[in-house]
Order: sequence, then structure tokens, then C-alpha cells
Amino acid sequence: MKTETLSRQTALEPFVHKNGNGLRHTAAKSRKLTTRQIKNLETRIREKLRETHEDIKILNGSISEELPTQPYSSSIADNADGHAEREKIVRESNHLLKLCRALEDALTAIKNGTYGICTVCGGNIPYNRMAATLVAKQHCECK
Ligand SMILES: [Zn+2]
Repeated sequence: MKTETLSRQTALEPFVHKNGNGLRHTAAKSRKLTTRQIKNLETRIREKLRETHEDIKILNGSISEELPTQPYSSSIADNADGHAEREKIVRESNHLLKLCRALEDALTAIKNGTYGICTVCGGNIPYNRMAATLVAKQHCECK
């Protein structure tokens, strides 16, 4: 009975489909963050922001110390090293600035009541992900 086999397969198909899409489905249906969870995360965000500001200050300090180098007295190799070192500091500093902005965005989102809500699908982002990243704006799957 060929038709019977076929219809049985069709009947099974939604299950297969659901399995394949399982992760996204769970993520989208996550529970909303509780006020207490948000409060916890907010404290951590503020702490992290303070730390990051501190790190930027230190980095900026090391850049301005580095800047007045004497290009003619040092060897080419020293110069290249100094240059690479400064590049590294600038890159790190940019990274920290970006992090600062993300943390400030997160605080704004908390104020606006949009914290923990995926900007792509509008679903709730799981607490675990928010606790791990502090600044996530999307589900892993929506990114
Ligand atoms: Zn999403």
C-alpha cells in the first residue's frame, strides 16, 4: 500500500520539522526577565561600566606616555615595535569604547523596558544568555 506509507510520512513530518527548529523555538518562547533578575544584571552592568571606564583611562594614559617617542634616535626595529604596541593599545581602546557603549545601551534598554527582548524577533532572550553577555540584543539564533 504505497499511499498509506506516504501519508504516514507526511503525518510524521511536523515532528521532524519541529526537531530541526527546536532551538529557535525554545529561545523565542523564553520567559521574560523578572524585575529581580533585571536588577541583578543592572548592578553587574554598572560595575562593568565602571571597570571599563577605568581600563580606558589606564590605556589612554599609556598612549599619551608612548606618544612622545623620538623617531630619529631609535632603531627601525624599535620603531616598528613601538608602532605595533600603539596599534594594539588603540585597538584595545576601541574595543573597550564599544563595550562601554553597549553597556550604556543596555542601561537605556532597562530604563525603556526593552532589556532582554530580541530586536530581531521580539521574543524574550533567556536569562542565562543575558547573564553571560549582559549586553545581548538578540538571540544567538537571530544574530
Ligand atoms: Zn530572536
